[in-house]
Amino acid sequence: MMRLNRNLVRSRTCQTVLVFDTFKKLTPDLMHQFAYKNGSLHCENVDLAAIAATYGTPTFVYSRNTILADLDELQRAFAELDAHIAYAIKACSNGAILQLMAKRGVGFDIVSGGELWRIIRAGGDPSACTYAGVAKTEEEIRYALECGIYCFICESEDELRAINRIASDAGKQAPVAVRVNPNVDAHTHKYITTGTNENKFGVDISRIEQLYATIAAEMPRLRIRGLQMHIGSQLTEVQPFVTAVQKVTPLASQLKELYGIEFLSIGGGIGIVYDGCLASGNLDWWKEHPEQITIASYARALIPLLKPLGLRILLEPGRRLVGNAGVLLTRCIYEKRGESKLFKMIDAGMNDIIRPALYEGYHEIWPVREHNDDSVVVDVVGPICESGDFQAQNRSIPDVKPGELLAELSAGAYGSSMSSTYNSRPLAAEVMVDGDKITLIRRRQTLESMVADEILPTP
Ligand SMILES: *Cc1c(COP(=O)(O)O)cnc(C)c1O
Repeated sequence: MMRLNRNLVRSRTCQTVLVFDTFKKLTPDLMHQFAYKNGSLHCENVDLAAIAATYGTPTFVYSRNTILADLDELQRAFAELDAHIAYAIKACSNGAILQLMAKRGVGFDIVSGGELWRIIRAGGDPSACTYAGVAKTEEEIRYALECGIYCFICESEDELRAINRIASDAGKQAPVAVRVNPNVDAHTHKYITTGTNENKFGVDISRIEQLYATIAAEMPRLRIRGLQMHIGSQLTEVQPFVTAVQKVTPLASQLKELYGIEFLSIGGGIGIVYDGCLASGNLDWWKEHPEQITIASYARALIPLLKPLGLRILLEPGRRLVGNAGVLLTRCIYEKRGESKLFKMIDAGMNDIIRPALYEGYHEIWPVREHNDDSVVVDVVGPICESGDFQAQNRSIPDVKPGELLAELSAGAYGSSMSSTYNSRPLAAEVMVDGDKITLIRRRQTLESMVADEILPTP
């Protein structure tokens, strides 16, 4: 399987690049621009080895044209609706990526005052921002009101009352929507499912009508603007979205009639291909995975349900817009044969990508130099002093040797944005590739900047 995939995606000549373009037309979904050319893994036209030589490792590398292609495809897929994308910036919040999205007319879905600040810094428009989250503080609410965001997405009556009071103090009206929990199982990992009644998120669908009536009657500073749902992340099938939207549309209709709501947000959660990522640029892969969600199948299933509402539709994708567009470039430092396992130690740890440790996240791991030798079964582990610090377990990969570069694929979403300096490891560098151009979009953190806010008490 491994070898087969590698051969399928081998892109050695310009001619093969053309083949990629043809795939892009035929399966416009889930393509990305990472492929082997001349025996070395490239991002667009740039050899990843060249990036490692200039910027060191670990380094996140993003393909600008992959992001733009996905954005464009999503916008076109929903063109027949009054649909707007609000990119969920927690997936990847680097300012260069926000700037790119803002220039394409994309709005943003935020979950903190800090994210709003980042958007404004990057030239984004606060009036195109929706603000979600279960525990917004008074300070954050005041800041968002001052900035004039499009809508607060509220998760409890307590929160609504707080916003009403803060808006009153500020002499303002606050646009609000409530997050409805449709109680649908998203068939995703339990840590990233959000739309069942066991989660902390949203308000149960049976209580929404009463809550909107209470807002209208008792909270004069709130302006009811919409309704929102978000049932989970990394959904690999369309069906849970369909079930949830079917449950929520009658309610949205009713709220439109009663309170004149202007939008329904259907949240984010569109899954990407992690296992088979590199091969997913190939038509055969798609034939073998007919259930895998695509932007096209998502749009095809939902548009007929949404169109009759006559509402503005907000989409809040995070992962789908950046996940396959980024890799983490890392180097193998040592190998070790344990009693029962072969370990490859790399210079990236759970502080750089926490997904495997946090929710069994999977990333394909490919050597930058193309191998034709047999694969070996290994654990790929990082330098952090935790047993949970692994990137792959019992995984068949080419037999990379110490000193060799590796790319951890599909690392664009919930990679750098979730990274930390645990074990006093500075944050990784980030670069963006556009054709054959490389732009540094975050310097590798220095040790000085890592401790800049710490205070050493004078003895
Ligand atoms: C995280 C989140 C999203 C984005 O989820 P993805 O799975 O990355 O698309 C969208 N909306 C809300 C409210 C979120 O919390």
